[in-house]
Amino acid sequence: MPADRIYNFSSGPSMIPFTVLEKAAAEMVNYRGSGMSVMEMSHRSKVYQDIFDETKADLKRQLQIPDTHEILFMQGGATLQFSAVPMNLIGKTGAADYAVTGNFSDSAMKEAKKYGEARAACSSGDKNHTYIPAQEELSISSDASYFYYCANNTIYGTEWKYVPDTGGVPLVCDMSSDIMTMPVDVSKYGVIFAGVQKNMAPAGMAVVIIDKTLAGNEHPLTPKLLSYQVMIDSDSMLNTPPCYTIYMLGLMLKWLDKQGGIERIARTKAEKAKVLYDVLDDSRFFAGCAEADSRSDMNVTFRTPNDELDGKFAKEAAEAGFENLKGHRIAGGLRASIYNAMPVEGIMKLAAFMRDFEMKNR
Ligand code: PMP
Repeated sequence: MPADRIYNFSSGPSMIPFTVLEKAAAEMVNYRGSGMSVMEMSHRSKVYQDIFDETKADLKRQLQIPDTHEILFMQGGATLQFSAVPMNLIGKTGAADYAVTGNFSDSAMKEAKKYGEARAACSSGDKNHTYIPAQEELSISSDASYFYYCANNTIYGTEWKYVPDTGGVPLVCDMSSDIMTMPVDVSKYGVIFAGVQKNMAPAGMAVVIIDKTLAGNEHPLTPKLLSYQVMIDSDSMLNTPPCYTIYMLGLMLKWLDKQGGIERIARTKAEKAKVLYDVLDDSRFFAGCAEADSRSDMNVTFRTPNDELDGKFAKEAAEAGFENLKGHRIAGGLRASIYNAMPVEGIMKLAAFMRDFEMKNR
């Protein structure tokens, strides 16, 4: 990484590997001899269709998505999926269960209440969302159209370490902040969705992976662009898709292959997170926010002894080239978001900076 680039610990949009940016730059004004940029291509052209098909095929291979499931590229980020999920799925029984383990699952449940009976299957709100409830603590009803959870809580820094057993109720999962960081048994899920701006691409769309048998039962007032069935039938091309974002996702997937694929990435991400959690565990100055068995490998949330020192830490870290370490406004404290593109070197340097800050300020 060139010296003028910073280590960006933003929760998203976040770092994109430098080699991916270089590749995009090299292809920017003339994509592989086409005489134009990907931004300028008709989405109906052969040259663009090839990019689209290859990206989908790479995603299908890397996540081992079975033929029972379809990949959709939808606009509106993850938040619009908070609406699309109930509009498409809640009608089956009129009810759905939501595991509320943070801000985003809470927002998703509130949105779903517009379309049916959305119930909290559990809530970690009693301890400020610092933990993930155990399987025994989930109340899952067989009359639910689906069970919804958010795999990684970006704001609070907690992550589900197990896939909930729903006894046959379709599983819907928001994987916005940990998709492409570990192998997933897609066959267990009815719907997986993810805003792309953390581990996949620049902002501008959500990837949706849906069991095709669940589509086709949407509320009659569902806008056609939010209908999973319409999007399946049109291969996400009912209208102009976010062409450039899909192209960037393609480049990211090629990069992921070069890193050794998802299994390798999964090992690296756990090692990267451990470096920072070791600093927290060894320290009497810093404290991790999440309970140890629920800690996220993606978003490491922590605090110094007080708010003033939190502010000082974030400021001095930025001056030293470690940006965006301030926690989310609703959680406070500090947060290092360390998605796939954050180099190991960035983590090692941040760990050294933290130890040094502790020495000087304790
Ligand atoms: N879910 C999770 C887990 C997130 O982290 C975010 C955004 N950071 C969202 C949903 C909302 O995503 P978007 O901004 O793409 O709507």
